[in-house]
Parts: sequence; structure tokens; C-alpha cells
Amino acid sequence: MKLEAVRIPPRLRGFEARDAQQVFDVTLAGAQVAAIEASDRPARGTLLSALVDAHAHIDKNYTVREVGAAEGNLFVAIARMAEHRAHWTAGALRVRMERALQEAWRAGTRALRTHLDWNSAEAPLSLAVFEELRAQWHGRIELQFVALTPLDLFADREAGERIARSVQRAGGALGAFVYRNEGIVSKLGRVLDLAQDHQLALDFHVDEGLDPEATGLRTIAQLVIARGLHGRVVCGHACSLSVQRDAAAKDTLGLCRQAGLHLVALPTTNLYLQGAWDHTPVPRGITRIREAAALGLRASLATDNVQDAFYPYGSYDLVETFGLGVQVAHLAPASDWLDAITVSPAKALGLGWDGRIAQGCPADLVLLAATDEYQLLDAHGRRRTVIRSGRPLEKSE
Ligand SMILES: [Zn+2]
Repeated sequence: MKLEAVRIPPRLRGFEARDAQQVFDVTLAGAQVAAIEASDRPARGTLLSALVDAHAHIDKNYTVREVGAAEGNLFVAIARMAEHRAHWTAGALRVRMERALQEAWRAGTRALRTHLDWNSAEAPLSLAVFEELRAQWHGRIELQFVALTPLDLFADREAGERIARSVQRAGGALGAFVYRNEGIVSKLGRVLDLAQDHQLALDFHVDEGLDPEATGLRTIAQLVIARGLHGRVVCGHACSLSVQRDAAAKDTLGLCRQAGLHLVALPTTNLYLQGAWDHTPVPRGITRIREAAALGLRASLATDNVQDAFYPYGSYDLVETFGLGVQVAHLAPASDWLDAITVSPAKALGLGWDGRIAQGCPADLVLLAATDEYQLLDAHGRRRTVIRSGRPLEKSE
């Protein structure tokens, strides 16, 4: 199969080419990319590596019709979902999770990391369902999970130990919801102890709000540097960074860079939850993606919640999430930020393939109809052919 005259954005190239050279012919052989040659014809599309979703919640998606939307109140959403969770069954979880994976698959996602609500020492019901689906989807979507536990639960040493053991057994990452907790340094220290003892990666929900006093990100970066856990920690949200003074925020981002933290911004949920609901919302819930990039820290964009109490809309189409991120954070030119849904999340998740297109790489690709920068966000340009193991899936919208 030959993909003729496709643009490959510079940040997605794993091969040498002049920056001015935008268009290439890509030959696929079996499940691999066999050759890439410069082309002088006008572009017929934009080629990406298959997409990587670094942060989702497939245990609670599509529940908004039962729980209602929380209109800007994160803690109302948390309480509503807790009530709903008490009635979860394996059957209902399987249906919800399958639906999310089907949607992500059709949109061109090759790997997805979901958080699983984990509110006690006991492993949640969702874990067994997740493990079944991870096996069933093997070879199509590489699935990872993170235990999403309230940070305060780690004050209970025995509970923390049991959570870490379950996560290790099931091959997941340890995580916590961190927002202005009392005794935050010692509780986070405990989570890092557990990660070190059990050799677990870490993935936090941190500073998901617009209170400038929320400085969990900074504490995590400092602890990670002190422990030498460079490169093994993902931090999602970090919205409060946007409302802190420039100098303080820049200093924190410098520590994040030093700690090798992976930042994940979640534009849909955070535009919906953060900011005012009684008047036009300014400021908005987004982290400092551009300042981070200026320090060499390339953030990922991910879907987060889909049709639940936290965010009542949305889908698993990362190209759509990307379009929103481009607008809300002024990521221009957009072509230069396509690593946020490909290369950067592949690195954050420690995937085998970094998502750079090169001779010999997997022929797991997404060919967008967009022939230039300005079509990337429009309805025609977002149309795509998903290619997996060198063969196109059905055309999707
Ligand atoms: Zn989340």
C-alpha cells in the first residue's frame, strides 16, 4: 500500500528531511512502514502516527443521563459519581467501557490510559472488567490503568499498602487526586514510597481548580527530584498554574522539567468545570502548555471525562480534543502541536513505539483529509482513514 503525497508534521518525523520539505510518499509493506520519499506533488492529506490518549475515565463515561451534569462544581460531580458507583455492576461497566474503546478505535487511537475510581483499600469492581477488556483488545488498543484514589486515603498505611499491591499485581500505575490536601507533603511522600517499594509508575490528578494556593504540582516535582524518580511521573490538569504569578509558575515548570514530569492537559472537562457559571468564565481551566514547551516540556492533550457528571459532552475523538486545545491555549501553528496527541503521550505512557514515523515503524497511522494547516480543525480536514497493521479500517467521519 502506498500513501502518496502526504504531509508529515516535523515533530512526528523520525527521519531526516529538510524543514521546507513537507510532502512525502510513504510505502507500507505488511504491518510496517517500508519507505518514505520526498514528493514534489501538492499534499493530499496529513499523516499522523495512530493516536495516544493519556488520560480517560472509561469506568464512568456515558453516565450523565443517570447522574446529571454538575455545571462547574467538581466536588458536586465527585459526590454524584460516588453515589452512582455504589450501584455499579460488572455488566454495566463492561458495556460502558466497550463503547468507549469502540469509539476510540474508530477515531484512530492505538493506546489509552484510563483512571479507575479506587476509593478504598479493596480493588474496585471495574478492575476485573478492565483486565478482561485489556486482554480482548490486545493488538488493537494498548490499555493501561491508574488507580484514582483520594490522596487522604494514603494516610492509612495499611490501605495504601493494599492498594499498591493490587495495582502491582494487575500491572497498573498508582495515582491520587491531589487538591489542597492537609499534610500534602507527607501524604504525597507516602505515595512515592509505595511507588518505589512496588516499582510502580505514578499518575496524579493534581491542582484541578483555579485556586492559586493549589501548588500540588510543585510539591510533586520537588519530591520526584529528591527521590530520583525522573521520567516516571505523569501529572494531569495543573489548572491552578494558570492563575499563579508568572515567575512562580515558571519556577514550578522548571522543577517539572528537572523532574522529567509528563504534563497532560484536559481541555474539555476543565473548560466545563473551571471558571464561572454565573457570568462569562474568565479565566479558564487550562494549564500553561506554551510556557512548559518553552522550557522543553511538551504536554499531552487527552480526553478525560466523556458524558458523565464531570463533563456531560464529548467523545473519544482525540482530533477533536486537539482542536479545542489549539484554540484555548493558542497552540499555533496547529501542525506544530500534533505531538500532543501522538509523540508526547507515547512518551508519558512509556509505549514501545514513540510515535515518530520512520522506515521500519509500525504501519499504525491516521491519514487526515487536511491538506494544510488551516484545514486541520475543520470538518472536512478532520475526516480520516485509520490504518492499522498496514490496512485501512472503514472510513470514519
Ligand atoms: Zn481525569
